[in-house]
Amino acid sequence: MRTIKFNMIEKNDTMEKIVSLCKRRGFVFQGSDIYGGLAGVFDYGPMGVELLNNLKRFWWKANVYDKTNSYGIDSGIFKHPMVWEASGHTTGFSDPLAECRECNTRIRVDKELERIGVAADEKMSEADINALFDEHRNDISCPKCGKKNFTSVRAFNLLVKSNLGDFASEGTEPVYLPGEACQGIYLNFKNIVDTMSPKLPFGIAQIGKAFRNEISPRNFLFRTREMEQADTQFFVKPNENKEAFERIKQERWDWYLSIGIREENLRWKQHDNLVFYAADAWDIEYQFPGGFDELEGIHDRTDYDLTQHMKFSGVDLRYTDPETGEKYIPWILETSVGLGRMFLAVLADAYHEDEMGGEKRTVLRLSPELAPYRVAVSPLLKNKPQLVEKAHEVFSMLKKEFGNVAFDDNGNIGKRYRRQDEIGTPHCIVIDFDTLGEESPELKDTVTVRDRDTGTQERVAIAELVAYLNH
Ligand code: ATP
Repeated sequence: MRTIKFNMIEKNDTMEKIVSLCKRRGFVFQGSDIYGGLAGVFDYGPMGVELLNNLKRFWWKANVYDKTNSYGIDSGIFKHPMVWEASGHTTGFSDPLAECRECNTRIRVDKELERIGVAADEKMSEADINALFDEHRNDISCPKCGKKNFTSVRAFNLLVKSNLGDFASEGTEPVYLPGEACQGIYLNFKNIVDTMSPKLPFGIAQIGKAFRNEISPRNFLFRTREMEQADTQFFVKPNENKEAFERIKQERWDWYLSIGIREENLRWKQHDNLVFYAADAWDIEYQFPGGFDELEGIHDRTDYDLTQHMKFSGVDLRYTDPETGEKYIPWILETSVGLGRMFLAVLADAYHEDEMGGEKRTVLRLSPELAPYRVAVSPLLKNKPQLVEKAHEVFSMLKKEFGNVAFDDNGNIGKRYRRQDEIGTPHCIVIDFDTLGEESPELKDTVTVRDRDTGTQERVAIAELVAYLNH
């Protein structure tokens, strides 16, 4: 399982620069770094966790607080083994795998085919994907040794097993780690109906962990083995799915624009190959550094999930219409996005290299609501106690208001600006001798506020700072 740091990142200049910035500035580290890393697992550092939490907060606001008919939950990670039987994961949750006969490297065949321009996906039958792979074998090289000597393709199940409660080590009925977080929502459907008495249509939202034995975790946070998913399941009356589905699709598109993603980097992709129960399925794709790929899935799942759980659990999961008394299984419209992919899309969108004052710089143009630090405060010189004291005063005042404020007195001012630009801090405040009113009494208690994107500096009264930054 050990791997060299970031060794699955595809050769791509921008991606490498983003990965390097993430490490340099404390956004994301390879999991278990000091032991050489663990493939497909990443740790968020002090800057990363702030950005991640801001993204979660925004997502939760849009999907719970801003709605009148939405309920948040947080279900346990471990679930009854029957859950994954009912959902079809134990039998059908697989990706097509082939192994290099020379060096044993495993490839995910649908993705390799797609890479060379051949349409394929993980839902194809084993026979179909083998036929397609055989047709194109000569165009696909092993990513490690470069040879073209692969085994035939077999379906590889992605569920990760645990030994929870298995004290005899029999492993007969494993408790799996969740392959997708949304199962927790189906399991709590009845609890929500019984306790909150919601009227259809209504939604349940959750951010939860999921684990997949990905054959080749790659592209940094894009394909990991441990991930967090932000899911909504919207429950509607049977056959009242179409209009709501279109509305939900639009809402999710608009949400990405609201967090500052550029529209030209988004596009829709409808699934050609639907699973048997689905009525419709779309992906919002983002133009990642390696090209457009799935960011979020939006699926019209009919009554499949609740029907399956009703069948396997024996518990009546039908909804009773309060007006007519009619009982039926609601249909489900699902949205699901991996937080890591969202994080990567936001970083890729914000990443810019430009020139300021004749110097090249890297800057993250994050919106102030998402940036890890809302603002940074610096004394012009760190060896002048009056400047430092005043800077601490301003820092404490802003910290009370915003929380995530940096005190930065490392290196000279130019270096501090470069560092804060790379972190994406929208404004830097400098406390200088004018703040103390030593030479120009009219400037007493004013500071310099420098804008990240334009580099312009303004003189602002300390008393006006909060209003200025909130503007
Ligand atoms: P893919 O085809 O890329 O493997 P998927 O269609 O299997 O993805 P879903 O099962 O629909 O993905 O999961 C919903 C969302 O969870 C995806 O849109 C993606 O944002 C995220 N996701 C899925 N697998 C991973 C992973 N291995 N690493 C990070 N995020 C993931």
